[in-house]
Amino acid sequence: MNRAPNILFVMSDDHASHAMSCYGSRINRTPHLDRIADGGMRFDNCFCTNSICTPSRAAILTGTYNHVNGVTTLDTMMDNRLQTFPKLLQAAGYQTAHVGKWHLGQGPAHWPTGFDYWTVFPGQGRYHNPEMVEMTEHKVVPGYATDIVTDQSLHWLEQRDRSRPFLLMCHHKAPHRPWDPHPRHARRYEDEEIPYPETFDDDYAHRARAAAAAEMRIERDFIASDVKVDPPDPANPRRRLGAGTAALTPAGGEPVAFASPHERKRWLYQRYIKDYLRCVDAIDEGVGRLLDYLDDDGIADDTIVIYTSDQGFFLGDHGWYDKRFMYEESLRMPFIVRYPRAVQPGSVNGDMILNVDFAETFLDYAGVAIPDDMQGRSFRPLLEGATPADWRTAMYYRYWMHGAHHNTWAHYGVRTLTHKLIYYYADPLAIPGNTGTREEPEWELFDLRRDPREMHSVYGDPANAALTGDLTALLHDLQAAVGDQPYLPGQ
Ligand code: CA
Repeated sequence: MNRAPNILFVMSDDHASHAMSCYGSRINRTPHLDRIADGGMRFDNCFCTNSICTPSRAAILTGTYNHVNGVTTLDTMMDNRLQTFPKLLQAAGYQTAHVGKWHLGQGPAHWPTGFDYWTVFPGQGRYHNPEMVEMTEHKVVPGYATDIVTDQSLHWLEQRDRSRPFLLMCHHKAPHRPWDPHPRHARRYEDEEIPYPETFDDDYAHRARAAAAAEMRIERDFIASDVKVDPPDPANPRRRLGAGTAALTPAGGEPVAFASPHERKRWLYQRYIKDYLRCVDAIDEGVGRLLDYLDDDGIADDTIVIYTSDQGFFLGDHGWYDKRFMYEESLRMPFIVRYPRAVQPGSVNGDMILNVDFAETFLDYAGVAIPDDMQGRSFRPLLEGATPADWRTAMYYRYWMHGAHHNTWAHYGVRTLTHKLIYYYADPLAIPGNTGTREEPEWELFDLRRDPREMHSVYGDPANAALTGDLTALLHDLQAAVGDQPYLPGQ
């Protein structure tokens, strides 16, 4: 059969690659996700260009950086008149659908466009009995969000027009905060202790002040609903739990006392990570059902299947939850692809691919011309085992959302194959969503070969003066090449 491939794009929200067994997870197993990696290619260096939900989704759809598509923070919604790859595939004859999380805005200017069918959660969406908006019609759908997204995806596949290729974007809410599992997974991991990450007790020394200033610490910054305990202050359930040794009462349980702040921190990590992994388990099962469908329908060979997430996440790494930083755990996206007609089973690629490359890659496979104003590059040659000699060896990153929910300071930087240079310009720049006040800018430099966990910035070390100069020039070159501007105080 000689026609454009089907594309099944499964994306979850905040699923870090170090919670997938095909990426060597120390903390869980994901047998169905592993089926994609085993049957295709695993990318070990897929990076987002801004580690936060809404901006990453806009970059994926448009193939452009956030200063170009205008979606820089959680409060800058996407203009649905922008060019996106689903629109181009639809125009080329694909049947297109989007099911699940959208998070690019609501209303006539922001609802999905370019899809023959769409049904989405408004905003973040709820785990249980979520509200959904199906082609502008609001309804409450009984059930568990992850199962609903899988069911609705399967339903759309079953009723599709078999004479044309399809694009199905299946977007899970899970495993985003507040990490509410399905009851069938509620007791998983109950009798085990999940291993702690190497950097669990990071003290944020030897880095710019931004790391210590961030408010995403396991030991201090959860609210009651994050870890399913009774609110210490029932009048203010969103108040943070705070550090220390104060007893915590699991919902429906007895108070738990702690002998030390560290014992309490470890207990909070277990509460958090177990629910996170339970949410992942439902996704894994859902992906298994989709893969079974492709097999049963006889279209597995003709379908490109992708599993990814909109960014990475801190799973207790650096003592944190959440994302946003350019540090490895939140920068890296899981990205696995199965396409038996072109991709070698069980292959692994270490080249650098970015979320702005996805659109170009899908257009390439569909035989649709890639518009000049898309800013990424098709990685089809990488998938087919032939990395071009001029493939990128450095990437540009910018996190615009200064302050806001977790007091993460705005920054930009460059990552090469061996180093990372980060500039915390730390200025809200009057962008919607930014609540922080301006801080004195600072730099960080990491040697990823010697310090892969980014625990010790070597910026300012005279031995690195030449390297720092080279990387700073590279950063500004990359920034200019994508059309972004350097930070200038008072602009
Ligand atoms: Ca996300």
